Amino acid sequence: MATHPQPEVWFLTGSQPLYGEDTLRQVAEQSRQIAALLDDSPDIPARVVWKPVLTTSADILKVCRDAAGQGAVGVIAWMHTFSPAKMWISGLDALRTPLLHLHTQANVLLPWADIDMDFMNLNQAAHGDREFGYIQTRLGVARKTVAGHVSDPRVAQRVGAWTRAAIGWSAMRSLRLARFGDNMRDVAVTEGDKVEAELRFGVSVNTYGVNDLVKAVDEVADAQIDDLVKEYDDTFRVVAELRPGGERHESLRYAARQEIGLRTFLEAGGFRAFTSNFEDLGGLRQLPGIAVQRLMADGYGFGGEGDWKTSVLVHTLKAMSVGTTGGTSFMEDYTYDLTPGEELILGAHMLEVCPTIAAGVPNVEIHPLGIGGREDPVRLVFDAEPGPAVVLGLADMGERFRLVANEVDVVPPPQPLPRLPVARAVWRPRPSMPTSAESWITAGAPHHTVLSQAVGTEELHDLAEMARTELVVIDADTEPRRFADELRWNQAYYRLARGF
Ligand code: MN
Repeated sequence: MATHPQPEVWFLTGSQPLYGEDTLRQVAEQSRQIAALLDDSPDIPARVVWKPVLTTSADILKVCRDAAGQGAVGVIAWMHTFSPAKMWISGLDALRTPLLHLHTQANVLLPWADIDMDFMNLNQAAHGDREFGYIQTRLGVARKTVAGHVSDPRVAQRVGAWTRAAIGWSAMRSLRLARFGDNMRDVAVTEGDKVEAELRFGVSVNTYGVNDLVKAVDEVADAQIDDLVKEYDDTFRVVAELRPGGERHESLRYAARQEIGLRTFLEAGGFRAFTSNFEDLGGLRQLPGIAVQRLMADGYGFGGEGDWKTSVLVHTLKAMSVGTTGGTSFMEDYTYDLTPGEELILGAHMLEVCPTIAAGVPNVEIHPLGIGGREDPVRLVFDAEPGPAVVLGLADMGERFRLVANEVDVVPPPQPLPRLPVARAVWRPRPSMPTSAESWITAGAPHHTVLSQAVGTEELHDLAEMARTELVVIDADTEPRRFADELRWNQAYYRLARGF
């Protein structure tokens, strides 16, 4: 996986000259301390870079323009002393990175016995930040507001969630996605407006002939295949028939060839996400299984059956999960256990589940595949790690996009699944399977999703705000009738917000 320099968020402090140089020196000193505390927080996966205190419209406009131009993924703004907000109009209007408004102050305790007017004039964020809130709301600036002292772990966690979303947003804005073939014939939900997606999310989605990929696969050298087969053997439990000397070893070698060919094609084109379609395999001898699974583990987005929208989400959530231990995978609601009150969802796909969500070491196996009309594909087989997770889907509603998330709990399968030849996750959706499924279906949300154990609802909410895209969440508090009403209200809101 390519290594990237650690992302930066800029820390902007608003003030004004009214109280003199001494006060401004203290403002600078205290805002440096706040920025340093955030920078040191393990919950914030970016450098927090302090910028000189802002007291004029010209300086504010310049720093807002520079943020995007100099590669900051977002800016945090705090109005230490009262910063008259008309100074912020041009800057906020020009700002092209996500914004977090940190409503804080330097001190935790109020010095009741000693407080005088000097202290009052220095520490007036309580109303200075309200002035800033007014102008942000008046201008319709998308942002997250976080209130509290930075030493409160909850504050750092909430800033961290926003930072993850900003990193994901930055990854999405620069994402190039290669589709090998179109989406599966006659399927509705995997369709979508690629022009709108590029405008809304910044992602560029283009199709390549699958035989362009076949050429890259055919050109792979035997020595590269030898190395990768050894890596498979070192990393996974390869079944005997696929091992060197096994009767199906040649199938494993071809799967390795596919992985190298795919990786070479994607790297050469600067693609960080892709799709495949079993209906359009050209000269590929297997539907790519382990190749896709391992590329996903390296951060590539993937969607089956040409589902580029889900592939975009897979890459975005993987970018957001930097520094966490939880995994993120392409997923599909496959089948149910409908024991009343104990309902479970078995999620899987034909082959393509990412091993970052695996509990334990995956097996490398080969089994027939009933569709696609090619040779038996090699795949990683495993159960998912139990724990809280979120599933997220993206639907094209015709005039806009809708994100739908469900908080779930991945559980160990109640019994072993010795005859199931694919990787899988078993989960209990919140608040219950009937309410989750009724709400999901009412929202028109897709059957392909991203399952992530690395990011949560707050990160997704922050991302949706940056993308100015609807997100509805199904969680422990969801009640189907209220949820259906929320969809109707949102429908009206997004139509109005868009203008006529
Ligand atoms: Mn599918």
